Amino acid sequence: MDLLKRKILDDGKVIDGNILKVDSFLNHQIDVKLLLEIGKEFRKRFNDIKITKILTVEASGISVATITAMNFNVPVIFAKKGSSKNQDDETYESEAFSFTKNKSYIMKVSKKYLNETDNVLIIDDFLANGEACLSLINIAGQAGAEISGIGIVIEKAFQDGRKKIEDLGYHVESLARIKSMKDNQIEFI
Ligand code: 5GP
Repeated sequence: MDLLKRKILDDGKVIDGNILKVDSFLNHQIDVKLLLEIGKEFRKRFNDIKITKILTVEASGISVATITAMNFNVPVIFAKKGSSKNQDDETYESEAFSFTKNKSYIMKVSKKYLNETDNVLIIDDFLANGEACLSLINIAGQAGAEISGIGIVIEKAFQDGRKKIEDLGYHVESLARIKSMKDNQIEFI
């Protein structure tokens, strides 16, 4: 997706050689026009696939998942991190290790919103080592739902997330695939 790649080159910042900061258009301030194009692109890429729900994880997956859900005319569910008093008692739960926060967390989805009749498209902002996606796959599996595909906005292809997911037999579509961020120079596949 050329528009996205251009934005990454113009506004993305490489931190510590392996984190891409995109706070100016995706993770903090959101470029809504770009977001609209991202939603349309996911619709195009998963056009022939049955999808009843979009599944993501809070917080930065929510905007892209929502715009994608709008394009498929289905609801979006976001896994919640940690516990809160207003959470349903009955939840699917899975542990994931956060690449950016360098610690583990539990994600939870209420059993009310996902079940064996669902065909799920998993959406996230980044794919790095695949932890977040594998946890979402695990949660969809607990619900007995079918996973129709996995859509990623920015894939860091020099990490092994895609391999782990493809080894499980799932189809991954990434809108921008970064081959290298060596010397703070971003190179796409
Ligand atoms: P993974 O679970 O695949 O290792 O990492 C993906 C998750 O970590 C995403 O949900 C994203 O929020 C965060 N993440 C991983 N790498 C990056 C990065 O380079 N930049 C940003 N902004 N987030 C990242």
